[in-house]
Amino acid sequence: MTQLTNQYSFRDLPSVDKLLSSPFFEALLSDYGHSLVSQTVRDMLNDLRQQIRHQAPLGIDLKADDSINQFAELTKQRLQQGSQSALRSVFNLTGIVLHTNLGRALLPDEAVEAVVEAMRNPMNLEYDLATGGRGDRDDLIEGLLCELTGAEAATIVNNNAAAVLLMLNALAHEKEVVVSRGELIEIGGAFRIPDVMTRANTRLVEVGTTNRTHLRDYEEGITENTAMLMKVHTSNYKITGFTKEVDIAELSALAKKHGLMATVDLGSGTLVDFSKWGLPEEVTVRETIEAGADLVTFSGDKLLGGPQAGLIVGRTDLIAKIKKNPLKRALRVGKITLAALEPILQLYRRPELLAEKLTTLRLFTRSQADISRTANELLPSLQQWLGEQFKVRAETMMGQIGSGAMPVEQLPSYGLAIRYVGDGRSGRHLNALEERLRQLPKPVIGRISDDALLLDLRCLEESQKAQFLAQLR
Ligand SMILES: *Cc1c(COP(=O)(O)O)cnc(C)c1O
Repeated sequence: MTQLTNQYSFRDLPSVDKLLSSPFFEALLSDYGHSLVSQTVRDMLNDLRQQIRHQAPLGIDLKADDSINQFAELTKQRLQQGSQSALRSVFNLTGIVLHTNLGRALLPDEAVEAVVEAMRNPMNLEYDLATGGRGDRDDLIEGLLCELTGAEAATIVNNNAAAVLLMLNALAHEKEVVVSRGELIEIGGAFRIPDVMTRANTRLVEVGTTNRTHLRDYEEGITENTAMLMKVHTSNYKITGFTKEVDIAELSALAKKHGLMATVDLGSGTLVDFSKWGLPEEVTVRETIEAGADLVTFSGDKLLGGPQAGLIVGRTDLIAKIKKNPLKRALRVGKITLAALEPILQLYRRPELLAEKLTTLRLFTRSQADISRTANELLPSLQQWLGEQFKVRAETMMGQIGSGAMPVEQLPSYGLAIRYVGDGRSGRHLNALEERLRQLPKPVIGRISDDALLLDLRCLEESQKAQFLAQLR
């Protein structure tokens, strides 16, 4: 190795021209182009000047015969680092299947292929192939959404928060919307029902109490300025004990009696009855429509298992009004979202195949026995990689559906629990290990609980096992 102590002066640094014209830089110039390579070289020379000034080690021997080659190597490293994508794939071993911070639903191959096709080609996004005239992008999925939910009409926007904002602004502008106190939720910090109402320029009328709201509370909240009675799914918490909420059928009947709209923000919004697969029961979009809701909003990337999107289904006249609102144009989805969503909706037409084909449902329903097999297969390699200071055990653990879907229910899962068995306190060592796992080429994200680092393996399917193991060598 070269001598790294600093005995150089600025004069030992080569010029940018000299470096770039050397044969060692030829490949870099052709891969990255002149402007980026020359800027990187200039940055590097500046750093070296600083290091020379401060007599710091350089990491390069300026007087060596192969110094230009060393420069080229350093430049290459910098260019590679700078070109690494900021958005990277990770292993989600948190136990939370729909993890908002990790991008929620994973899409099945059918959707992935459709997205690739849409990115590579012009599409009939707003072009009617039958007439050659202008089409409407919503038409591409409206038929499917209506078939699957029993609704008359449907539209789609960027996410469910946008769907709620748009619905309120289009239908209750400068009017009052009556909501139960028990349903004034906050989702992930930035989405709070009262704030969204303000931004939509509607007035919130809170009725009832946190734990109990009766039909008469809604009725008393109605004035001549009321436009809508709204229910919001309390996605991320549950009030238990002495509680009372008004169901959708009762609320819809009350709305009708007063000539008002009844709307429901379902949040997750599932299209099928999850209890069929032994999962907790969630009211479906179809049931909500059948109970009399005029409009229902829900997410595309929660229980539905599709791309990020907000779906609004319900009465034709109301959907038409929503589509005329200028905000719809601002919140519309692109062809990539539509391309991803359509095959997902198609899968729901074949419910018998859903648990195998829809990635999210396959993960939700993966058996503990199957996950434990994966755990036992991975255990020896992980133990070896960690060394003697840690002890790995395959254990049962509790996961979650996530993303505010079924907040209380847990998914009995299986995984690897890593405990510190060396000297000293374990907390610091577990934190350091958590960081080391995050720094792998494909970061591994687990969670620390009860003095153990837990890697829930529900979301590590057979197809990714080899990739996981390869990192531990
Ligand atoms: C998740 C959720 C939202 C926000 O949906 P996004 O698709 O994340 O924008 C709104 N309302 C409820 C009830 C939710 O659960």
